[in-house]
Amino acid sequence: MFEDRVVKEILERYRTIWSISHALSLMSWDNETYMPRGGVEERSTARAELSVLARKLLLDKSFVELVEKALHREGLNDYERGVVRVLHRQIRIQKSIPERLVFELVKTAGEASHVWREARKKNDFQMFKPYLEKIVKLRREYAEHLGYDDHPYDALLDLYEEDMRVRDVDAIFGKLVPETRKILEKVVSGELFPDKHELESMEYDREAMDRVNREVVTLLGYPWDRGRLDVSPHPFTITIGMKDVRITTRYEGRDFRRTLFATIHEFGHALYNLQIDERLKMTPLASGASLGVHESQSRFWENIVGRSLSFAEILKPILDKHLDFIKRYDAQELYRYFNIVRPDLIRVEADEITYNLHIYLRYELEKQMIAGELAVDDLPEQWNDMMEKLLGIKPKNYSEGVLQDIHWSGGSIGYFPTYTIGNVVAAQIRNHAENTLGDLEKIILEKKFDELREHLKETIHKWGSTYKPKELIQKQLGEPINPEYLIKYLKSKYLKES
Ligand code: MG
Repeated sequence: MFEDRVVKEILERYRTIWSISHALSLMSWDNETYMPRGGVEERSTARAELSVLARKLLLDKSFVELVEKALHREGLNDYERGVVRVLHRQIRIQKSIPERLVFELVKTAGEASHVWREARKKNDFQMFKPYLEKIVKLRREYAEHLGYDDHPYDALLDLYEEDMRVRDVDAIFGKLVPETRKILEKVVSGELFPDKHELESMEYDREAMDRVNREVVTLLGYPWDRGRLDVSPHPFTITIGMKDVRITTRYEGRDFRRTLFATIHEFGHALYNLQIDERLKMTPLASGASLGVHESQSRFWENIVGRSLSFAEILKPILDKHLDFIKRYDAQELYRYFNIVRPDLIRVEADEITYNLHIYLRYELEKQMIAGELAVDDLPEQWNDMMEKLLGIKPKNYSEGVLQDIHWSGGSIGYFPTYTIGNVVAAQIRNHAENTLGDLEKIILEKKFDELREHLKETIHKWGSTYKPKELIQKQLGEPINPEYLIKYLKSKYLKES
C-alpha cells in the first residue's frame, strides 16, 4: 500500500502528530463524559498546548519540504497520493492563517460560547451581537488569507468540505428547496403522517431505554470490543483509533425516539471510521472523506434505515421487551410516531422534509454576512422573515430563532451546508445500494445488516480520505452529487409517489 520511500518517511514522522491527536481525542471524550468539573482549567491548557505542538510539527521546515518533495513524485499510487494531498492541504491551511488570527478566533469563540449560553437563556440578542460581529469579521479575514476565486464564503466552506463551492451548494438548494416546500405542503394537508403523537410526551425509564439503545446498535452491528456507548449533553462520535470508536447519547426522559435516533445517528458515524481499511491506521487517511460524506453515513442509518417501516417492525419486539407502555402500539403506529412531520422553529427537532429548509436559511444568512451584504444588526429580522417564507412560522423570541444553534458562537461559519450534503448523499447511497443489493425494506426486515455494512464499506468506508469527497462520490456512485435522489426518496416515502 505504501511503497514510496519519501511517503514512507513522511508517514514515519507523521506518527508523532497522529499520537498527539490520539491523546487529544481521548482528552476531549473524557471532557464530555466523565471528567470532574474541577479538571476543566488544566485540561484546557493541556489541550491548547498539545494543539500548538501538533501545529509546530506539521509546519516544521523539514517536514514541509518532505511533503513538497512528494508532491512532485511520479508513480505514486492512489493511497500515497492521498497522504500527500491531505497533508499538503493541512499545511497550506495552517500556513496561510497568521498565528495571531488563529489565537484571536479561538479566544473570541471561547468567550462567545459562554456569552451565547447566557444570551440564549435570557433571550438577549444584544448581549451576543458584538461577539457575532467579531466572529464574522475574523472569519472574513480568514477567507482573505485562505484565498478564493468567486465568493469569500468559498474559502470557509472548503475548510469543512474540500473543494465544495457556493455555486455547488446554490445548485443543490436551487432544486431542493422548491421541491421540498411542495412536498411539505401536501404532507401537512394529508392524513398519512401526523403532526404530533401521544408518544412524544410518554416518559420512559432511563435504564430500560439504555438497554434498548444497546440492543439496537448491537443488532446493527456495533462491535463492543471496539467501541463504547456513554452519556453526554450533546451526542457525538469520537475516533480514538481505528479499533476504538466511541459513541454517546443522551436521555431526556420522554419522547424516546429522540435518544433512539440520536444513538443510531452516532452509530452511523462510528461505523464509517470502524470500517476504514486497516492498513490506513495511524496515517492522515484514517478518517472520513469530509464532514458531508460523514454525515451521509449517520443520516443513512438514522433516517433511511431507522425511520423505515421495516425497521419499526423489527424494533417492535425489542421495545416490547424493555418499555411496557409500548405494547398497545403496533409497528405501523410506531412508524407514524417516528415520522411526525411538523414545521418547527428548532432545527434539531426537524423531520426529514423540513430539515434542509433550516439549513438553507442558515446558509443564505451566513453567505450574506460573509459577503458584507447583511449586518449582524439586521440578522434577527432576516431570520424571522425567511423562517416565515420557508416554513410558515415565525419565532416569538431570539432563543427559538437566531440564538438557537451553537455553531456561530464556536466560530464555525460554513459548516451548516455539510448537513444537507449529508442528507443528499445519503439518498444517493440508498439508490446505489438498492441497485446493487435490491429492495432495502426487505434487507432491513430480514435483518441482513451485515450485507448493508459490507456494501457501505466497499463503496465509501474503506477508502478513508484517500480521495477528495467529490472524487469519491463520482468514482463510487457513478455521478456527481445530485439532489434528485433525495427529492425522489421524500416523494416516494411521504407522498407515495414513485
Ligand atoms: Mg452527525
